[in-house]
Amino acid sequence: MDCIFCKIIKGEIPSEKVYETENLVAFKDISPMAPVHILIIPKTHIGGADELNEDNAAVVSEIMLAARHIAEAFNLDNGWRVVTNVKEDGGQTVRHLHFHLLGGKKLNTELA
Ligand code: 5GP
Ligand code: ZN
Repeated sequence: MDCIFCKIIKGEIPSEKVYETENLVAFKDISPMAPVHILIIPKTHIGGADELNEDNAAVVSEIMLAARHIAEAFNLDNGWRVVTNVKEDGGQTVRHLHFHLLGGKKLNTELA
């Protein structure tokens, strides 16, 4: 399958990894929108949150816990945000489920 994030998981595309477990990997976004902008993704290919089901959704809990650990490691004591975009209206450009972890500045409060 031609998925850039699957290629990052396999090491076929370089990335700046900051955290990894058996089921997920986290790396710096190539075009950051905040001083800290990390992408956290499951190692299993899931297209987006619209493809979550009873069998594959447990990794989302692991991703949120990873977000907390990464936020601590990057000293985001003042706060941070996790966002997942879904399909066209949600602004998703890469069809492999990913969660943006953003912080290091006062984030825009306009959600939509
Ligand atoms: P989306 O718009 O789908 O929510 O987020 C996709 C994100 O992936 C964007 O913020 C974009 O900058 C990032 N991205 C796209 N291609 C690459 C890449 O090859 N490497 C890294 N590190 N980030 C990427
Ligand atoms: Zn993929």
